[in-house]
Amino acid sequence: MPGMLYLVPTPIGNLGDISIRCRETLEQADFIAAEDTRVSLKLLNHLGIKKSLVSYYEHNKAQKGNIIVDRILAGETCALVSDAGSPAISDPGEDLVKQCAEAGITVCAIPGPCAVITALSISGQSTGRFCFEGFLSTSKKSRREHLEALVQEQRTMIFYEAPHKLLNTLESMAEVFGTDRSISLCRELTKLHEEVVRTTLGGAITLYTQQPPKGEFVLVVAGAAPEEKPAATAEDAAARVAELVAGGMSRKDAVKQTSAELNLPKNVVYDASLSQ
Ligand code: SAM
Repeated sequence: MPGMLYLVPTPIGNLGDISIRCRETLEQADFIAAEDTRVSLKLLNHLGIKKSLVSYYEHNKAQKGNIIVDRILAGETCALVSDAGSPAISDPGEDLVKQCAEAGITVCAIPGPCAVITALSISGQSTGRFCFEGFLSTSKKSRREHLEALVQEQRTMIFYEAPHKLLNTLESMAEVFGTDRSISLCRELTKLHEEVVRTTLGGAITLYTQQPPKGEFVLVVAGAAPEEKPAATAEDAAARVAELVAGGMSRKDAVKQTSAELNLPKNVVYDASLSQ
């Protein structure tokens, strides 16, 4: 019987956020794969759990991934944790999930702390439709290309960012989206100094130029305003009615259809069609 891979979210700042199910899964797993074993050891010590740890991070994931998959196929259960938050979201867990899925291993994700969702819910931005864009590149050119591809994006956009890159990122965003675009900067979530700054890109640049950014950030940026179509004119209506009538439609039906298509009152469309 093959074992299983459990994705175990860990607190993003407040140790009280570990769930009962996460704790039980860590206790019951045969081994734990961790992004940074020193970080995870602190959490395990806090929880009073002693368990064998395997490091699985960006630069050893190709080799360690195979070892972990083999152990699971041999019947062991692995719990994957990242440094904080939900494994596989902007961290190397993504590759282990792919590898396990390809090997036919069952993957079980336990819900729990995740910086992107915590930030979105507290941001005050629209939450109905959103897209997660992860980290932007440190290269100015790639960062600009990434942002330019989002210039028409109407959904709320969410980015992860490190404090030392924040100002460069805000400047690139202001160049592409404009200084008036609304942004919520969610900092140190669930920690003692949790803070949400709701401002514009221009306002954020001014603030963090005066006061160097500290801590971990999630940036929640409003989407682009929908493009407003210019209102249809009487000439547009007359031309559309004429087109429909030429196609064989009765004037009455053509007026009705044009009124619906151009969002103009029927009498306006009718009068316009007579004046042609
Ligand atoms: N997998 C994790 C998750 O989705 O929750 C995120 C891992 S990613 C490597 C780390 C980034 O998440 C940080 O650079 C920061 O942007 C964000 N983050 C993590 N914890 C945070 C916190 N307490 N407050 C604000 N942002 C946080």
